[in-house]
Amino acid sequence: MHRDVVILGGGIVGLSIAREASRFGLSALVLERDRVGSHASGAAAGLLVSRGVVRSSVPGRMFYTQALQSYPRWVADLERESGLSVPLHTTDDWCFFCPCGRADRFRDRLERESDPALWEETDLVPPGLGTFLRPTSFRVFRFHEERWLRPGDLLPALRDAAIHVGSEVMDGVGEPRVERLATGGFRVLLEDRSFSTGQLVVAAGPWTGNVLSELGWAANLVPVRGQMALVPRLHDLDALVHLEDSFYVVPRGNYSLVGATSEHGKWSEETTEEGMAELRRRVGTLFPDFDPSRAVERWSGIRPRTRDRVPHLGWLEPGLMVASGHYRSGISMAPLTGVVAAELLTGRTPSHDLSDLDPHRRPAGWRRLP
Ligand SMILES: Cc1cc2nc3c(=O)[nH]c(=O)nc-3n(C[C@H](O)[C@H](O)[C@H](O)COP(=O)(O)OP(=O)(O)OC[C@H]3O[C@@H](n4cnc5c(N)ncnc54)[C@H](O)[C@@H]3O)c2cc1C
Repeated sequence: MHRDVVILGGGIVGLSIAREASRFGLSALVLERDRVGSHASGAAAGLLVSRGVVRSSVPGRMFYTQALQSYPRWVADLERESGLSVPLHTTDDWCFFCPCGRADRFRDRLERESDPALWEETDLVPPGLGTFLRPTSFRVFRFHEERWLRPGDLLPALRDAAIHVGSEVMDGVGEPRVERLATGGFRVLLEDRSFSTGQLVVAAGPWTGNVLSELGWAANLVPVRGQMALVPRLHDLDALVHLEDSFYVVPRGNYSLVGATSEHGKWSEETTEEGMAELRRRVGTLFPDFDPSRAVERWSGIRPRTRDRVPHLGWLEPGLMVASGHYRSGISMAPLTGVVAAELLTGRTPSHDLSDLDPHRRPAGWRRLP
């Protein structure tokens, strides 16, 4: 059986690429080892925070920003194609910093990059956030019109939308074997069948290196575990709260989602007492009542991080594409990742400058194994 493109990995990245490739007229097949969206993509908080950025020379940041700009349209398309609802919430985001150098650097960057109408530094913390918050202990930034959604709503809609426009999605296939064909292209072997393709996309999140090392490529891709806890609601406001842009509290109905740790080099998707203690120590400075032992649910996911924290997206060699390393922002970057990957797959000039994401870049990119 032949497909124009075979995509290994059914997280948000693989599914976004499949959907766009199908919309461009290619026959696209997603092969997912476990269950679609069952790893980082399903574990994510679903924050889509823009910080009001309108210009930036930081590598990857404009890609991120433009991806976020396309989100409302993308979600509306997914809803229409899938028939499923994906509520996209728009709220304020309150960002608390200790009064230290980090706050100064954060503010400097906002002044350089962000639309002043979309943020302010303020002493006025709304009462609904809790009277225990002492603004003098923190520097407080307020961002207007930030967005979030639930990955649990997004992933099924994206899968169904991809299928609706013609993609095939097979999950539970384990780790397919991949062979190069003497005539060019690849054969992807499952237990009971195989597929040939001229274009293989590896979108296997932190496991991308396992697939590509078999094909003679290596890169420094680090797993970074994030642990989360869902606890009874910590405040009354319909708003996001960030602590130093690292930890966050997201409203989820009667609950608050609190996240997330950043544990480098951890491959196991478990939650630990140490991880919960870290959340308690950090988020407890804002919400002293936060107690992870009252969590109704805890989970973790593995973020795929490249050496420079910018994704790898593009051709490694003719017919072999890598799409991974989206680290903390894969949900946010998914719409544009899908579009530019599909443009490359159909031989078009990408509509976005991809040089920051070049998978060959030095020293953060892929190199051929000797
Ligand atoms: C705790 C946490 C919170 C986060 N919060 C946010 C957020 O708020 N906003 C945001 O933008 N991003 C967030 N992220 C980051 C985001 O979740 C990731 O960047 C994104 O999910 C990566 O998507 P992916 O498709 O590359 O990887 P994954 O979701 O890991 O998908 C890769 C898939 O490949 C499959 N696979 C592996 N090996 C093979 C193989 N050999 N063959 C076939 N399939 C294979 C796996 O089973 C997996 O399903 C968060 C991440 C975590 C962990």
